[in-house]
Amino acid sequence: MAGAVEVPGKMLALMKREAGESFKIETIPVPNPQGDEVLIKVDANAICGSDINLYRWNEIARVIAALPFTPGHETTGTVVRCGPEATIKEGQRVCVENHYFCGKCYQCEHQNFSICRNMNQYGHGKGTPHGGCSEYSIVPSKYCYQLKTNISPAEAACLEPMGVAHNAIERLEVEDEDVLVIGCGPIGVLVIAVAKAMGARRVFGADINPRQLDLAKQMGADDVINTSEHNLRDVIMEKTNGNGIGRICECSGAPPAVNTLWTSLRKGGNVVLIGLPKQPIHIEDPLTNVVFKAVQIRTVHGRSFNDFRHTWEECERLVAEGKVKLRDVITHEFPMSKFEDAFQTLFSGKACKIVIYPQQ
Ligand SMILES: [Zn+2]
Ligand SMILES: [Zn+2]
Repeated sequence: MAGAVEVPGKMLALMKREAGESFKIETIPVPNPQGDEVLIKVDANAICGSDINLYRWNEIARVIAALPFTPGHETTGTVVRCGPEATIKEGQRVCVENHYFCGKCYQCEHQNFSICRNMNQYGHGKGTPHGGCSEYSIVPSKYCYQLKTNISPAEAACLEPMGVAHNAIERLEVEDEDVLVIGCGPIGVLVIAVAKAMGARRVFGADINPRQLDLAKQMGADDVINTSEHNLRDVIMEKTNGNGIGRICECSGAPPAVNTLWTSLRKGGNVVLIGLPKQPIHIEDPLTNVVFKAVQIRTVHGRSFNDFRHTWEECERLVAEGKVKLRDVITHEFPMSKFEDAFQTLFSGKACKIVIYPQQ
């Protein structure tokens, strides 16, 4: 199947074939798309916090991934070859919907694709060995989001994590509401930017790291609270005339934050949980802090569960219109040949989003 673009027979890709630290850069054959698959030339791949687990191959990695695989799930590329049943044309720029839903389970039958109970995952060796840290990659047509604008490859790669933030903010219903975002890591600062873009009144960012709080301000937070210096509940009560805050988005996953956020919440308020607590969570006084407050608690996993394309479209629109400055969260960029430097930078805690370019 010859196409307009020349595709070489071999390519460079990061691989993890056995348990142990890091990845290996290997020269492997460029795969041929079958059925509805397309072959994309990868333009950019952003690194995610969860890739740290895959790099180190810790206990979490053994649950969320399967050997062998190519890492990278925040991926954008250009279609260069199409399988016989592909529904996308060569030359189209796409982002990868990394949550590979089955299309057959109860959730999928009810159009809740992003919480498919048999979910596979691109870049994790789940149902596919392929991932975005590769010069070329195979993706089924149905897991491609077709870009509509000319946003940069680095921005397009970051639409995947931004989608999680967007989904959370849609669930939270922030228009004309004050919002508290706990945890100002990559997802938290994206939540702040999306909340402002979607009409929140005041947005507060809370974290223990001054560098993250600076970025939170840059991304649109009206005020930031360093929770290693101040009692979060006291500050929030002071700023809300003792009412508590109407909307909280929890992005830290830190058990003390998850356990106590309820005391800052206004009666009748909404909470959305994104951060992943690695220990059990425990709420003191659940009657007064939760049940009698008539709160609405939501959680998210990936994009809008009944219409993931809506999330992709809205995120691309907000970036293309300059309403979310995705560029500002990208602190580092590396050629794929320097992937070790990229991961060391991530481990140093000095980076927000890091983008890798497989063609360099
Ligand atoms: Zn990710
Ligand atoms: Zn399913």
